[in-house]
Amino acid sequence: MNFEELKALDHEYVMQTYGRFEVDIDHGSGATLYDLAGREYIDFSSGIGVCSIGYGNQRWAEAITKQALKLGHISNLFYTQPYAQLAEILCRRSGMSNVFFANSGAEANEGIIKLARKYSFDKYGKGRGTIITLTNSFHGRTVTTLSATGQETFHNYFFPFNDGFRHAEPTIESVQAVAGHDVCAVMLELIQGEGGVLPMEGEFVRKLAELCQKRDWLLLIDEVQTGIGRTGSLFAYQQYGVLPDAVSFAKGIAGGLPMGGFMANKKCRGVMTAGTHGTTFGGNPICAAAALEVLDILDDHQLLEVQEKGDYIRGQIESMDVACLGSTRGLGLMIGIEVLGSQTNKELAAKLVENGVLCLTAGKMLRMLPPLTITKEEIDKGLSILKQVLA
Ligand SMILES: *Cc1c(COP(=O)(O)O)cnc(C)c1O
Repeated sequence: MNFEELKALDHEYVMQTYGRFEVDIDHGSGATLYDLAGREYIDFSSGIGVCSIGYGNQRWAEAITKQALKLGHISNLFYTQPYAQLAEILCRRSGMSNVFFANSGAEANEGIIKLARKYSFDKYGKGRGTIITLTNSFHGRTVTTLSATGQETFHNYFFPFNDGFRHAEPTIESVQAVAGHDVCAVMLELIQGEGGVLPMEGEFVRKLAELCQKRDWLLLIDEVQTGIGRTGSLFAYQQYGVLPDAVSFAKGIAGGLPMGGFMANKKCRGVMTAGTHGTTFGGNPICAAAALEVLDILDDHQLLEVQEKGDYIRGQIESMDVACLGSTRGLGLMIGIEVLGSQTNKELAAKLVENGVLCLTAGKMLRMLPPLTITKEEIDKGLSILKQVLA
């Protein structure tokens, strides 16, 4: 099958909900990918922050294969070893207390929303279910997480959306202005990914944590994109010096297999009681075995390298004399690049993909989320193509 045949097949039988690049991807190794025709691409996208240990990782593939031959699935009615071991490692490395495993980011965020409302209901009864979220946030595509998302473009077509969310700007004044006696939590990303790689001010986050403490609101942090090493620490909150009441994760956790989940701190560890939540596939042994391998690979040394590689890429781009690229922002290997001039970020990304560099967009920015294990050689190769194509 060639690209044109594949595209025709897709258009005939697949709901066309995605704006795709004009490229197919067949296989990969490290941070380098190949299409059906054998053309090479340097990957600065990780399948949108998912393939954190790159492609064709031997240890990951062997862990999955071994587990698949042993036990592929059994449901949450039984204990399984990879599940409990993964929960332990996540808690030990995050300072959180216990874990619920789900399958995606949206589902993970549904979980922390339920946890916040249950915490409040147990303590105060009904009428305190509102959650404050921020403008330019992105929390997922289910009806509830769309309602939580603080971008008007997502509040279309699927009416009625859910009550129970109020949007504020990322300042203490704005949060206080929308607050009321019906609020139980504040939910935020520490770097807004889809919104345009927008990092929160440290001062704002620390003051927000204090305010939450004072009003007994839960501090819910959506680490679906920033988590699992993306920013150079296992979770981004570890660099902000706050401990959330609950934190969601997904994208990078299992290195490419669908997995998500959320963790509660000590105060909230008993909130989700028997029968209050569940999901058929959550903590599936194959995904858990893959995640154990991912976390083992992403040790402290690798995480330090994430910071170094991020600084290196940003330094190289900032010093590149390319008129359409402005300043950069982000943390670790979550990088936003300002786009200047008449071409849009989407046009630039399409041009890059066409020429062998996979790059993402977010808001009006170009966005890079390379595999965390990308090598210096792959970075230099990708940046040199980028410079040539955009100059
Ligand atoms: C991607 C993303 C989600 C949604 O995750 P899905 O796995 O697509 O449901 C939620 N929050 C943030 C911050 C994300 O980046």
